[in-house]
Amino acid sequence: MAKTSPFGGLCRFFILFFKYTVHPDGQRKGDKYMSKVPEIFGSMVFDNATMKERLPKETYKTLMKTIEDGKHLDLAVANVVANAMKNWAIEKGATHFTHWFQPMTGITAEKHDSFISPTPDGSVIMEFSGKELVRGEPDASSFPSGGLRATFEARGYTAWDPTSYAFIKDSTLCIPTAFCSYGGEALDKKTPLLRSMEAISKQAMRVLRLFGNTEATSVKTTVGPEQEYFLVDKALYEKRKDLIYTGRTLFGAKPPKGQELDDHYFGSIKTRVVNYMKDLDAELWKLGILAKTRHNEVAPAQHELAPVFTTTNIATDHNQLTMEIMKKVAQKHDLVCLLHEKPFDGVNGSGKHNNWSISTNTGVNLLEPGDTPHENAQFLLFLCAVIKAVNEYQDLLRVSVATASNDHRLGANEAPPAVISMFLGTELTEILESIENDTAYDQKEKEALKIGVHVLPRFPKDTTDRNRTSPFAFTGNKFEFRMLGSMSSIAGTNIVLNTAVAEELRQFADELEGAADFQSALHELIKRTIKENKRIIFNGNGYDDAWIKEATEKRGLYNLKSTPDALPHFVDKKNVELYTRHKVFTESEIYARHEIHFETYNKVIHIEAETMLEMTSRDILPAVSAYIKELSDTVNAKKAAASSAASTYEEDIIADLSALSADIYKGYKTLKDAVSESETIDDAQKLSRFSHDTVLADMEALRASVDAAEEITAREYWPLPSYGELLFSVK
Ligand code: ADP
Ligand code: MG
Repeated sequence: MAKTSPFGGLCRFFILFFKYTVHPDGQRKGDKYMSKVPEIFGSMVFDNATMKERLPKETYKTLMKTIEDGKHLDLAVANVVANAMKNWAIEKGATHFTHWFQPMTGITAEKHDSFISPTPDGSVIMEFSGKELVRGEPDASSFPSGGLRATFEARGYTAWDPTSYAFIKDSTLCIPTAFCSYGGEALDKKTPLLRSMEAISKQAMRVLRLFGNTEATSVKTTVGPEQEYFLVDKALYEKRKDLIYTGRTLFGAKPPKGQELDDHYFGSIKTRVVNYMKDLDAELWKLGILAKTRHNEVAPAQHELAPVFTTTNIATDHNQLTMEIMKKVAQKHDLVCLLHEKPFDGVNGSGKHNNWSISTNTGVNLLEPGDTPHENAQFLLFLCAVIKAVNEYQDLLRVSVATASNDHRLGANEAPPAVISMFLGTELTEILESIENDTAYDQKEKEALKIGVHVLPRFPKDTTDRNRTSPFAFTGNKFEFRMLGSMSSIAGTNIVLNTAVAEELRQFADELEGAADFQSALHELIKRTIKENKRIIFNGNGYDDAWIKEATEKRGLYNLKSTPDALPHFVDKKNVELYTRHKVFTESEIYARHEIHFETYNKVIHIEAETMLEMTSRDILPAVSAYIKELSDTVNAKKAAASSAASTYEEDIIADLSALSADIYKGYKTLKDAVSESETIDDAQKLSRFSHDTVLADMEALRASVDAAEEITAREYWPLPSYGELLFSVK
């Protein structure tokens, strides 16, 4: 790679994090599966074991050493690695390679190049060079850049992230890469995530040194994302333009049965679904993804998959891949996997629980309370860093989950509320209270709890994991953030968590490094942090209206109900300072992303509104008219046959449906006008308000009349499969 490459910095932190691919407890968790599915697990991944086996000893050593030292990859080494990778990939049936990256679209991107290279005699050989491995230059002008990449400079760069292994998918060797503009600005989700991991590692190491830890050399965050999804029958799906274009049903009357009986949650899994899940697990295992649990969720047709946790950037790559594979495997089973946060109104939506922790490269989970006073003190300090981070950067966390689709879920009576608070459980909360007030923690102890002297009781996972209404819950040795939407990349949320916690650790380290007496300074710091940030701690029912009132009125917490309410906070001064201080985003990167988020929100609502208009005018209104005509024909036939003047059931329905179709038509015209008006608003932020307040409201009104019409229209006339069919047909 050239010295002038904008990726100098990037490569350094890829390299820094390479060593983090090992599981925190020092053991590859895959081992557990290896015994059961040894042939397939990781078979499509060019992982450490494969590298060791395939690379000449010297190359392997040099590669590891270059990585350890954070140096640039020498082209000669890259050439050898690329060649070994290519040979391995060809043996596995690959014909192409691609730099696989995560642009701001939220999904992954790839452009395939074949390995073939012409020879003078007119034949071809299979080639893949070190240069092609470490760097790519896709024409990237069509990816969202928020104005960062002027169109005259369409080139973007992709650079290999060796912390995430190359893998084979669809006969293509995929090389996980970061994606930047010509000027080095991040255009993707991976680059800032890696930067945030570097930031938290740097600050956490300062704190660990203060506790006398001389062994650890780096710290990483770990994530286990639980992924929820719906499965529907493909034939039914294909009859719904709303599902096809928008991922959610824009119309649909409530079925007689929904999730009232709670008979789906953890229920026995239907055969077709089990077969799907088996196939899915196998495909994920081949890619080295540690798919572990699978079960039915609360809503009918809703399921969940959870992997074993791993390093955050790998977990992010794996989650992106998981979502893609979920959809692909579903097709093979004549199913469609819906990842939208709210595919069906009135039944639970889908989220993605982001289980997050911090651990050292020596395998110590820093959010695990220890057995000694010393370990406990360190745990409490890290805990305080998370509490303070969540309190001070609630708005950024909320921004990280703000999308048009997730808005349908947050704040409804299912997912966490839009207000962010933390659940610590009674035991831990009591401990914090006793520290704050210098009072004894339990009756037996006479003295006040002294940090660094007393041993804390262990908190069994069970007692800390019971509050399902909390957006941010401590679950024994990690935090579970539950606001993330099922469709989103987990990168955004983890960028916020890593950076905000890095900032608090920075402040703590600054204070403690200058202290004359470490123990008493530590005690005072923890005490003060609890006092100043305890408003964010709430162990009660997060769905309760009284809580929302208390949170906003008494505690002054944010209640950012919708995306247009939340997004403006992304560029609040304190947030810009946070990101620039830790070099996670530059100011121009922040503003670019800000713009992209607003644009995406507006586009989603625009597409939904257009879809509704089309379905209303071309399918729904004609269907209602046709049914009315059939009913009128029947009325006439009956009248001809009998002389009775009594009104018939058909006449009543005709009257009701005629009124409803008038409402539908009115709603249609109102929405059409709103869409036209929205097209005249240039400012993305202003447009987001209009999209939310006017377009979405008009969509809801239109839907209400359409759903009412569905309830009294004959099944054979209604142009869309019903909720009942969509939710209950997979056997
Ligand atoms: P629940 O449904 O009770 O929340 P699950 O077992 O379904 O629990 O999911 C818990 C998730 O948390 C799993 O993906 C697991 O790997 C992950 N996890 C466990 N320990 C950690 C950790 N230290 N860091 C990050 N994630 C973790
Ligand atoms: Mg969970």
